[in-house]
Amino acid sequence: MADFIREIVAADVAAGQIAAPVTRFPPEPNGYLHIGHAKSIALNFGIAAEFGGRCHLRFDDTNPEKEEQEYIDSIQHDVRWLGFEWGKHLYFASDYFEQLYEWAVALVGAGKAYVDDLSADEIREHRGTLTEPGRDSPWRDRPVAENLDLFARMRAGEFANGTRVLRAKIDMASPNINLRDPILYRIVHAAHPRTGDTWCIYPTYDFAHGQSDAIEGISHSLCTLEFEAHRPLYDWLIDNLPVPSRPRQIEFARLALTYTVLSKRFLLRLVKDGFVRGWDDPRMPTISGMRRRGYPSEGIRDFATMVGVDKANSTIEIEQLEYAVRNVLNRTAPRRFAALDPLRVVIENYPEGQVEAFEVANNPEDPSAGTRSVEFSRELWIERDDFMEEPAPKFFRLAPGREVRLRGAYFITCQSVVKGADGKVVELRCTYDPATRGGDAPDGRRPKATLHWLSAAHAVKAEVRLYDHLFTTPTPGASGDLMADLNPDSETVLPHAFVEPSLADGPAGTTFQFERLGYFCVDSDSAPGRPVFSRTLTLKDTWAKVQARGTGG
Ligand code: ATP
Ligand code: MG
Repeated sequence: MADFIREIVAADVAAGQIAAPVTRFPPEPNGYLHIGHAKSIALNFGIAAEFGGRCHLRFDDTNPEKEEQEYIDSIQHDVRWLGFEWGKHLYFASDYFEQLYEWAVALVGAGKAYVDDLSADEIREHRGTLTEPGRDSPWRDRPVAENLDLFARMRAGEFANGTRVLRAKIDMASPNINLRDPILYRIVHAAHPRTGDTWCIYPTYDFAHGQSDAIEGISHSLCTLEFEAHRPLYDWLIDNLPVPSRPRQIEFARLALTYTVLSKRFLLRLVKDGFVRGWDDPRMPTISGMRRRGYPSEGIRDFATMVGVDKANSTIEIEQLEYAVRNVLNRTAPRRFAALDPLRVVIENYPEGQVEAFEVANNPEDPSAGTRSVEFSRELWIERDDFMEEPAPKFFRLAPGREVRLRGAYFITCQSVVKGADGKVVELRCTYDPATRGGDAPDGRRPKATLHWLSAAHAVKAEVRLYDHLFTTPTPGASGDLMADLNPDSETVLPHAFVEPSLADGPAGTTFQFERLGYFCVDSDSAPGRPVFSRTLTLKDTWAKVQARGTGG
């Protein structure tokens, strides 16, 4: 399964250039990690593990106005939850601020950097375009001594935000805009989550990133394609600074998914505007959202392996992620009974007050998962969808006069229907066949449908939240407005569901398969005796498919 990056690493090891690779995952702590980051994490930590090297977790904390301790903590939690470990190799770009500053001073001293008094707008105007060269700033040829003095005073806090920057002196006519005297330092009077008020100038990402890699001895600095055009700048800095090592940058394609937006800025907006229940809302493409929704980390890792790494950007179908998750859950999620939209069934010939216990399989695909005991009594809940008063063609479930199997219990036959004042069916009067105890008939007759069920006297009330894609279109924002593409029906709350009594106090984060309904995860909003479930994924619903084809009724 060697992708082009693994081939490069293997060749470098084979050539004796390195004993083992050192990689890093470098998040900016300005939001929660998302599924795109998971791809990068799996790649960096995966390569380190496969080649006996190591992977650093380094926070690129160079932008204090947007960064918070909450994000630093959540990122560490998420990387560990994904199954990766950095050990003692936890680093922060802010730990290198003093070193980076010294190197900047060295560039100034060598005449390779200068303090520019132009405003941000003026700098942009001078930068030129892809087809036109840039123009020199009037401050470009400041004497070295004046630059040294001004840069020291920038650090000392003498100047207001935005009044001056430090720029590399490279080439305003370069065809690569990143080489047109890029900004190395900005004045930002803002407290930093780690360095507090020590600094009021902060290095740009472009200045901090490559040098941080060099300080840590990163052998392969893996980043997404948009940084390809920055590589000549990183090389220029490495060539012009006395750095201790020379990392090799390799770019790969960013993960993009249908029905999904992976911009932290936009995700933050959804959180701030209250469109979702927070960064960990089960609809969010964040790692914490997927965890809350019940995606196992193994499914996310499998997905990362499936999509691999490539040199060309492309969009992956979200169904591929769902497939990877279902694969794991099908194997691991215990089966339970639940009625999302419950319909009462009274078994008229079943003795009042009698309770029987039936053993049902926890996972029909895995006998080692064992069985559990489920109570049966005279009044039951079944799923409203499992009944049709006038059954459509190909609808084989319960209907007046029809017999079905209750999984692991008895065959029942619907005798009559009770309706409320509004004409809605509120109860089914049924009879059972005592000879079918355990779910099989001695005469060999076989109902066409097997339903799940709950004893009404024993079932526990639950809230169930159904989730659909966050966006109505596979390409959100194609029309120019992301907000307009949000799916207003991405969450449906079912407040009156019932589940087995064993699910009353399940620990949040446990995922079950509600038989015939889908995968559901105990939500963190659950309270003792009042569980809340988030639908992780549906099963493949064959009836819905039949209906969609128009052959049903
Ligand atoms: P955003 O643009 O939303 O702020 P970012 O890329 O700036 O995201 P970082 O925290 O800088 O977020 O990302 C950390 C690492 O994760 C980087 O190396 C980046 O290349 C990688 N990464 C981010 N998004 C993706 C993605 N969609 N696919 C693959 N890798 C990604
Ligand atoms: Mg970034």
